[in-house]
Amino acid sequence: MPGPISGIHHMTAIAGDPQRNLDFYAGVLGLRLVKLTVNFDVPNTYHLYYGDEVGRPGTIVTFFPWPHMRRSRAGAGQFFATALSIPPGALDYWRERLEAHGVQCAGPLERFEETVLAFEDPDGLPLELVAHQRAEERPGWPQGPVPAEVAIRGIHGVSAVSLAHERTARVLAELLGLRELAREDGRTRYVAGQGGSGAIIDLIEPQEATPGIEGIGTVHHLALRVPDDEAQRQVHHEVAEHGFRVTPVLDRQYFRSIYFRELGGLLFEIATDPPGFTVDEPVERLGSELRLPPWLEPRREELIRQLPPLRRPGTA
Ligand code: ZN
Repeated sequence: MPGPISGIHHMTAIAGDPQRNLDFYAGVLGLRLVKLTVNFDVPNTYHLYYGDEVGRPGTIVTFFPWPHMRRSRAGAGQFFATALSIPPGALDYWRERLEAHGVQCAGPLERFEETVLAFEDPDGLPLELVAHQRAEERPGWPQGPVPAEVAIRGIHGVSAVSLAHERTARVLAELLGLRELAREDGRTRYVAGQGGSGAIIDLIEPQEATPGIEGIGTVHHLALRVPDDEAQRQVHHEVAEHGFRVTPVLDRQYFRSIYFRELGGLLFEIATDPPGFTVDEPVERLGSELRLPPWLEPRREELIRQLPPLRRPGTA
């Protein structure tokens, strides 16, 4: 029986320059900036959220732009590539678009009967576009710079390399309730809930166990989604029962979250689907101005003075 986790909620990575990040994800990849806010724990830095038109769970990729952080090293104990979902006919469009923007692509290669184009964002974060038949079950954003029929539909899956492969496999299957779907070339595919695009974690067997170093261009954490607070309480209980240190519930304004790091080095967040990104601005205004949670609103002037100004692509 599937547990309360129904798929991926969002992926969060560390970026360098916020303007370069915005230009790439909103401008080149054509995702919608669904929330312009600050990091609630480091409020003099941005937290940029990209997603589909309304920022549905499973379409969201978010960044902490920390230009002064150290450079990273990819390795074990990290989430690796984030795969984004595109319709099967969109592959040529994307190869041309990425190359026109100076982004080098590897592939297409075949994996689990899907076609994968691999590349990196401007900070070296590994990304993939995965072309597959069921991509069109999720809508493309009609007002973006990329035509809706070829637009990115959200997260397809995320891959990870653990420092303790077997232990992480058990966390995925026994604690988080994912099920093993397939194995291919040292890669084991797990799916949450009903499975499908947006519910996939691929655990890759490490070639060598050199630990990665967190920094610019690496994934900070992966958030899995639960439908409500009750389901989150259930997962909180399970995580604690398995002996992991888990945070109390934190109010992230657009969802409520708990976090725990498993023994393979991977930081997981469990985030609620509600209330979503329209809680403090209407759909048509999403991402158009800096939003702060109520407890930071009194510091707005001070924070704006410390934050670098940002220009959204396509605006003057
Ligand atoms: Zn998060």
